[in-house]
Amino acid sequence: MTEPEPKMPELIVEPPVKLVVDGVTKRFRTEDGEVEALGPVSFNVKEGEVLCLVGPSGCGKSTMLNIIAGLEHANTGKVLADGNLVTAPGPDRMMMFQEHALFPWLPVLGNVLFGLKLKPKLNAKERLEVAQFYLKLVGLEKFEKTYVHELSGGMRQRVALARALAPNPRVLLMDEPFAALDALTREQLYGDLQQIFEQRRKTVVFVTHNVREAACLGDRVLLFSSQPGRIHEEFKIDLPRPREINNTRLTETASRITHALKSYTNLTKAGGAA
Ligand code: ADP
Ligand code: MG
Repeated sequence: MTEPEPKMPELIVEPPVKLVVDGVTKRFRTEDGEVEALGPVSFNVKEGEVLCLVGPSGCGKSTMLNIIAGLEHANTGKVLADGNLVTAPGPDRMMMFQEHALFPWLPVLGNVLFGLKLKPKLNAKERLEVAQFYLKLVGLEKFEKTYVHELSGGMRQRVALARALAPNPRVLLMDEPFAALDALTREQLYGDLQQIFEQRRKTVVFVTHNVREAACLGDRVLLFSSQPGRIHEEFKIDLPRPREINNTRLTETASRITHALKSYTNLTKAGGAA
């Protein structure tokens, strides 16, 4: 198979920048002193792009995502969403966590409707219509009335995804959403997720420590190094979509990224990295 010819720059239409992360640093005060969690970190995310943040545990991935979400504040630097300074959470940037964070006392439909509280302009009938649309999108239309504790881990994450999608945020922030799931369930979700991202035209920042997952979902992968969390290397993933997790070229790409990750984490352990 031949590589596609690179396009002439004159023919490429660059989508607008959706998110700007500019010189962000973050320190935490703990009983044991200060932790330099981040920075400085700078990157842009283009509209419709899926950007994956990958790195070892504790390198600041969640902190970075929380700052983009407006749940945490940077010590220095700033985040812009559509050119506006991010100071608080907003319905334009929805977050999905590793633990499903659903309400066990509500059925599936109630959980998705809850996400729509952010949209006060909708009446009850419209809310129901929207919630049912997104439950169908994640393949759970038959489980509206089921309680969360009766669902499998994969189904719970599908509910969490529907809840995050329901207010129709332009930006979706995902923090290791599939880390607790078995491989088979994850594989199914990768396929569905790629379809949903494409169909709903989302800009996505996806945090994972799973390199293969990042190569499957991302248009770009930023490798973070730790203490403080910084961008160590960037990989552009030009593989055609939809991507199969076991595809040979995807496996090769993932190996390249893993190799880079291992080389600098070993250096860090040996105290050799700056
Ligand atoms: P990751 O998501 O990559 O595993 P985190 O963003 O959770 O990393 O954490 C980065 C660093 O900041 C770690 O050293 C972690 O212990 C520290 N940290 C994160 N949140 C807090 C907090 N609320 N208080 C103190 N330290 C924190
Ligand atoms: Mg984390």
